[in-house]
Amino acid sequence: MHDCLFCRIVRGEIPAAKVYEDDEVLAFRDIQPQRPVHVLVIPKRHITSLAHAAPEDTPVLGRMLAVANGIAVDQGSTDGFRSIINTGRVGGQEVMHVHMHIVGGPDPVGPML
Ligand code: 5GP
Ligand code: ZN
Repeated sequence: MHDCLFCRIVRGEIPAAKVYEDDEVLAFRDIQPQRPVHVLVIPKRHITSLAHAAPEDTPVLGRMLAVANGIAVDQGSTDGFRSIINTGRVGGQEVMHVHMHIVGGPDPVGPML
């Protein structure tokens, strides 16, 4: 059991505005949205970062990509979106549990993150 922030959200110990869930992944709204649509997609099982991913993590990492478009469209990002994964200190990763930002919305999406 991991004591990290996103593992605690998975366990329901910290509230989050969930927008999608299946056996392997959870998606919830970012607490400080940078655009009208800003969702984080995470594996339910703890993976620290892409730098820590093992071969057995490949299916869940693929699943994160596979569910992205449906989540974006559901949230109102009907004309495309950005999907961003920050890795490690230089990559600007603040929460050490792999997460993909889905960023978009009706407004033009400029540079961010
Ligand atoms: P990173 O810089 O690690 O790629 O992004 C971490 C993201 O997690 C940030 O966009 C930040 O706003 C978000 N975040 C941090 N703490 C919480 C939280 O407790 N709940 C939610 N929903 N988002 C969080
Ligand atoms: Zn975790």
